[in-house]
Amino acid sequence: MKKHDSLFNNYRPECRHWREPVRVGRQIVLCSSYFAMRDITEGAPGFAVYLAEAWRDKLGFFSTNGSYIKRVAQRRAYPCLFVDWKDFSTIPFLVLDELVEICLCKMRQGKVIEIACNAGHGRTGALLACLIIRKEHLSGERAISEVRRRYCRHAIESKAQEEMVKNYSLMRAIW
Ligand SMILES: [Zn+2]
Repeated sequence: MKKHDSLFNNYRPECRHWREPVRVGRQIVLCSSYFAMRDITEGAPGFAVYLAEAWRDKLGFFSTNGSYIKRVAQRRAYPCLFVDWKDFSTIPFLVLDELVEICLCKMRQGKVIEIACNAGHGRTGALLACLIIRKEHLSGERAISEVRRRYCRHAIESKAQEEMVKNYSLMRAIW
């Protein structure tokens, strides 16, 4: 696969991540795959961040001025955001930082948040790693290995995503 510098195949039939609890600091974050979706109202999170187009199409999000982060259009059982983030790719630092801040804010309010993309590996794993960096003050490299240990060994699935996570921890250290 030359188009992306992918580390793994995206789809792993053995993985059926659906609202899988992963420890971040002293809290739990739920990680999900669109492919493994069950009843979305069952065990619903307090807040959700959806990172793949399939979620946008299913839930119907605003499209606002080409911005990366969009709000949900209809009233749902729980508030959620959609982020324009292409499979295997990365998002700019400032967008990532804003997204992480939103997640941390919700976590500070005591909400259980859900992060989801298609298979629940690349984009979900990358954002999860950034939350671990902020909550546990780990290096990018450590956070990546913790995501693969605590959640799934296929998580964070491109070199570019690994670099984005490492860069995030370096940028945050001097911020
Ligand atoms: Zn997996």
